[in-house]
Amino acid sequence: MPDFANMSLRELVRPEGYTCGCGRAHVCALKYLNIGRGIVREVPQMIAAMGKKRPFVVCDDNTWAVAGKRVDELLTAAGVEHRVYIVPLQRPDSDRIAPAEWETGGIIMNFDPACDMFLAVGSGVVNDLCKVAAHATGRPCAVVGTAPSMDGYASNSSSMELNHVKVSLYNHGPEGILLDSEILAQAPMRMLWAGLGDMVAKYIAVCEWRICHLVTGEYYCESVAGLMRAALKKLMAVAHRIPERDPDAVAAIAEGLVLAGVGMAYAQVSRPASGLEHYFSHMWEMMALERGVPYDLHGIQVGVGTLLTMQIYRKLLADGTVPDRARAEAHMRCFDPAQWEREVRRIFGKTAGQILAIEERPARTTRKSTRGGWTTSSPTGTRS
Ligand SMILES: [Zn+2]
Ligand SMILES: [Zn+2]
Repeated sequence: MPDFANMSLRELVRPEGYTCGCGRAHVCALKYLNIGRGIVREVPQMIAAMGKKRPFVVCDDNTWAVAGKRVDELLTAAGVEHRVYIVPLQRPDSDRIAPAEWETGGIIMNFDPACDMFLAVGSGVVNDLCKVAAHATGRPCAVVGTAPSMDGYASNSSSMELNHVKVSLYNHGPEGILLDSEILAQAPMRMLWAGLGDMVAKYIAVCEWRICHLVTGEYYCESVAGLMRAALKKLMAVAHRIPERDPDAVAAIAEGLVLAGVGMAYAQVSRPASGLEHYFSHMWEMMALERGVPYDLHGIQVGVGTLLTMQIYRKLLADGTVPDRARAEAHMRCFDPAQWEREVRRIFGKTAGQILAIEERPARTTRKSTRGGWTTSSPTGTRS
């Protein structure tokens, strides 16, 4: 089995991928990936490696200031023609742009069809918006990250708000990722916490993946799990330097988050990066949307979800409970759909109908169920 835990980024993203004893071919669609100090200067090389000539650069006000302007200058200096679009703030009660219809529409309406790719300069939301726009226009996309706050950089799913409901849309994953640790280290401290939160979640995710394999025989790859464990080990060794904004500690968060994306692409399921802790975050976002109140950064919520999940795991351990198929099936037989529907309606109010409709869709098994419990993971899975 391939030893992903000891491979370089370059080896991990080689185009031919790897055949593996787990039965799956592990391939990642990235054509360019680099993480480190001063790496933003490689933006013209990344575009060339993708075989593109004219990027449509998308930022918001914040990311323009921290990296967009620099990207604009680098492209101009390298003679790369490009257009810049800065997504304006739409919601007066928030200092963040939303991953929603209005912002997506703004990008599409301002898109210059002479551009042959999207270049997102930002972290979660800007990258997610570009993935959707890239899919809609049939162009590839790449990203220059500005915060190591979540693991969606390399994934092909976008965490969007559609008609005020949180959804995962599956579309174009970036073909290029540049994460300059000197830029990332200047991100707001909460975003660094968020990145750490989304990474510590992988302890649960990998553990849960293995338990599911033991209980249900679900697909599992020890090499991919090993890749995640190695990234966690590397991060934990330097995590104490995050409060000082040490670029190398921040690079370890960034690398872990990108490797989570690579792990998901390799495994073709979200299991390597997402477990019960992500359900907590997903539910809190849906509840916030229903109530019209802001929600916190994905990684912060996931970090709190990790602590809550740890409590459940500790309880299971203290109970002496050993997970097995018979117990899991007994638990599933106790599931009462009517009771569940009543609870969804009580908690989610006016958005409950849409949530229930999503659950009833025939393709439901291609997503993780929001019901939690022993559900089947899937080729697409809920984004992490
Ligand atoms: Zn494998
Ligand atoms: Zn996540």
